[in-house]
Amino acid sequence: MRQSRTPETFRVKSFGCQMNVYDGERMAELLADKGMRAAPEGEEADLVVLNTCHIREKAAEKVYSDIGRLVKAGGDKPPMIAVAGCVAQAEGEEIMVRAPGVGLVVGPQAYHRLPEMIDRVARGERAADTDMPADAKFAALPQRRRAGASAFLTIQEGCDKFCTYCVVPYTRGAEISRSFKDLLREAEILVEAGARELTLLGQNVNAWTEGDLGFDGLIKAIARLPQLQRIRYTTSHPNDVTEGLIRAHAEVPKLMPYLHLPVQSGSDRVLKAMNRSHTADSYLRLLDRFRAARPDIALSGDFIVGFPGETDAEFEATLRLVDAVGYAQAYSFKYSPRPGTPAATMDGQVPREVMDERLQRLQAALNRDQLAFNRACVGKTCEILVERKGKRPGQWLGKSPWLQSVHFEGEPAIGDLLTVEIVGAGPNSLAGKSAERRAP
Ligand code: SAM
Ligand code: SF4
Repeated sequence: MRQSRTPETFRVKSFGCQMNVYDGERMAELLADKGMRAAPEGEEADLVVLNTCHIREKAAEKVYSDIGRLVKAGGDKPPMIAVAGCVAQAEGEEIMVRAPGVGLVVGPQAYHRLPEMIDRVARGERAADTDMPADAKFAALPQRRRAGASAFLTIQEGCDKFCTYCVVPYTRGAEISRSFKDLLREAEILVEAGARELTLLGQNVNAWTEGDLGFDGLIKAIARLPQLQRIRYTTSHPNDVTEGLIRAHAEVPKLMPYLHLPVQSGSDRVLKAMNRSHTADSYLRLLDRFRAARPDIALSGDFIVGFPGETDAEFEATLRLVDAVGYAQAYSFKYSPRPGTPAATMDGQVPREVMDERLQRLQAALNRDQLAFNRACVGKTCEILVERKGKRPGQWLGKSPWLQSVHFEGEPAIGDLLTVEIVGAGPNSLAGKSAERRAP
């Protein structure tokens, strides 16, 4: 059995949010530090890490089907399977019972202990660690080494907001901010390794704080790194928006004109039942302030349809909010009852067919606005950051300041900033014609 010997190759599969993508990269670095190699595409790996997401039902079910597939495909030599991430945190013991093929289970705050856990599994044991030490993890991780043109940097973890539908406060623990010194160091290393754009990550990224320094102060400090060209952040919470953050959008040219500010619903009754502590109107007024600071800012949000008790009229209020904002891009979900959260046992659970219909109507409105936003870019000239080669020969892909994917022909290098004219727009991407290159 491949299970019970030290693995030589690994594959990390991350699901869900960008913080999971970041965690997945850090796990890969840890495993490489232990002397293991990433399995080449198409080759089986001795160790597979499923870095899971628990935010909605389907994500958790997918983990069990992935485990089954891996065990089946491995025949009499199944790989060592590690379940990491939020499903591991929430259902660790259940996974061990339900899936005997899983060798180890490790929560999002404990994955720095992965190497020693792998050794235990290689000795024939099974290992589970879902501890939540406050900030031991980051200190124990190896130094970053490689970065693409755009890299993630987790600055804050956890959540104290306890929205009534959400598992994050239970799976990721209380809000913690990483230290300013460590973050500046990691940002410097990522830039030295080739990153030209950093996306600062956190469940409530704008809650980051250290002493008197707020999130806007951190952005300004990171913007001073000379070779860094762009800064983004996600996900922010309306309650943690400060005047300083809004002003930063006017004052820091490297801070991109893009804001992902989830609202969830346009109905104040639903927002209160969700424990969101903002109203539809206070949210719209916040957006006005961002727009006043940075008139071209692209807006994004998250929505949940079918929260318990949501009436047709309350759903219509969400559609009205969408019309009022004109989002450049947004994420929308059907409410999924999460075990242990207050909303899961609330009266008035909405039937699936009603949720389906509401989601379709909401997504039609959001898609309409996204296409309109993209089409309005045609004829404009903007700077794009080159991220990778496209699928067709000679084609390249980069991102506009407003986070749209732009494809174009040319001979650039990854990490170049190119001025392009936007010549076409579809629902999910833009076509550009490259004009000139700016050396970073
Ligand atoms: N902290 C961010 C905020 O509150 O704005 C969002 C982080 S959460 C991981 C990402 C999104 O998942 C939420 O904004 C919400 O729209 C969605 N979500 C969370 N719990 C959900 C649930 N039980 N059912 C459906 N969608 C959910
Ligand atoms: Fe979940 Fe609400 Fe925290 Fe966002 S603010 S992570 S939705 S509890």
